[in-house]
Amino acid sequence: MDYKQALNHPIFKTISQSAESLDVDAYVIGGFVRDFILNRNNSKDVDIVAVGDGIQLAKQVAVNLPNKPKVQIFKTYGTAMIRHHDLEIEFVGARKESYTKESRNPAVENGTLEDDQNRRDFTINAMALSLNPSNYGELVDPFNGLGDLELKTIRTPLNPNTTYSDDPLRMLRAIRFATQLHFKIEAQSLHAITKNKHRINIISKERIVSELHKILECDKPSKGFLLLEQTRLLDIILPELTALKGIDEIEGQRHKDNFYHTLEVVDNISNQTNNLWLRWAALLHDIGKAPTKKFNKKAGWTFHGHEFEGSKMVYRLFKRLKMPLNDKMKFVQKMVLMSSRPIILAEDRVTDSAVRRLVFDAGDYVDDLMTLCEADITTKNPKKFKKYHNNFKIVREKIVEVEERDHIRNFQPPISGEDIMKTFGLKPSREIGIIKETIKEAILEGDIPNQYDAAFQLMLKTGKRLGLKVVD
Ligand code: ATP
Repeated sequence: MDYKQALNHPIFKTISQSAESLDVDAYVIGGFVRDFILNRNNSKDVDIVAVGDGIQLAKQVAVNLPNKPKVQIFKTYGTAMIRHHDLEIEFVGARKESYTKESRNPAVENGTLEDDQNRRDFTINAMALSLNPSNYGELVDPFNGLGDLELKTIRTPLNPNTTYSDDPLRMLRAIRFATQLHFKIEAQSLHAITKNKHRINIISKERIVSELHKILECDKPSKGFLLLEQTRLLDIILPELTALKGIDEIEGQRHKDNFYHTLEVVDNISNQTNNLWLRWAALLHDIGKAPTKKFNKKAGWTFHGHEFEGSKMVYRLFKRLKMPLNDKMKFVQKMVLMSSRPIILAEDRVTDSAVRRLVFDAGDYVDDLMTLCEADITTKNPKKFKKYHNNFKIVREKIVEVEERDHIRNFQPPISGEDIMKTFGLKPSREIGIIKETIKEAILEGDIPNQYDAAFQLMLKTGKRLGLKVVD
């Protein structure tokens, strides 16, 4: 492979010349090199390691670039960053690290390129390309990262036990990379992750969530969640999911394993949408099933109210993981709360009024809800599979039809409270609520169209029933 091709962009020549003028060696290292070899869509993040002062090198590069970009300096980390066109170039001085038990932030001292490669998380992330004139474009690969790329293997450069214990975030990174790249985690690493799982508790929630997001953004997120489960990290991070594991049997009646079902749903939805929050909704849609599970001789296994319970659990889970409690969370809650509604429709006959109620309750999220419910079909019975998908197709068609005719989405009542007060000469009172609810119900049921005249007539009729008189 001609590694010089990775350095086609003119910026690398500038960095090379800048480094030479400062008399330091410089290398491109990490993800950029890995992704070039993997032929993965060109990485826009470039990491440069200087055997010397990284910040000084960044400043020199900025001076040598025609547009003199700003150098952003991160003093605490000893790094500097330059944005150049669509590239984000980060500079760091080669360093040697030593860790303490309590923190993933090591004590740092200046080091050689080799020291710097030793501190990298995986062999495939430790490869460097030289920017030095004597061997420009040469690959420096002390741990045979190239071989691991071929074997599709995640392996640590040094002892995995130390590597993961030093910085437990690497456990999640290993699982994330395995999922993103469709790699396997080498056996000793997997063992070390399992052994060090409790060390994850020293990692900030924000970093954990950021890795979970990345796993959920993969083509097949189930791979990552299975690895999290296998290493028992999932028990610590998302115990709500491991609580769904297992199949109970009483008197010959069994329920499905809701953990594996959930992972199937997440993979299904990932084939349909890149919406991260809809993927989260798929992951959490059944979490209410663990606390609501009951056995009953007549009905067998039931999970009554699991959607409501699940939506409350979403709030607690987001809070625990320090995820923002914003409209994204509300969206996930809404999806979980409504996750069974279209299924009930699809199992039975699809009536107009049921579709109108669905659109009324789901509002703008009705399409997302349908996507979730279609992903939720994991039956292995081909007849049922076909039937449910067919029924959902009918539901989707009906949604469009009902929407065109009845404008239920973001429903605005055709008769306002003001209209009612004026007609009957009322002050704010209980009767107004009753009339409004009667009209809304009649529209959703399909008893009257969603139009002013029909609603006005119903208002008069309802008013009369309540003993109200029309004023002139
Ligand atoms: P991606 O951009 O897909 O996350 P990346 O490999 O570029 O991939 P970064 O997080 O940007 O990931 O890290 C850049 C490089 O820094 C990595 O390739 C690796 O060499 C090193 N690195 C990052 N995080 C760690 C860590 N926790 N421990 C050791 N080395 C790390």
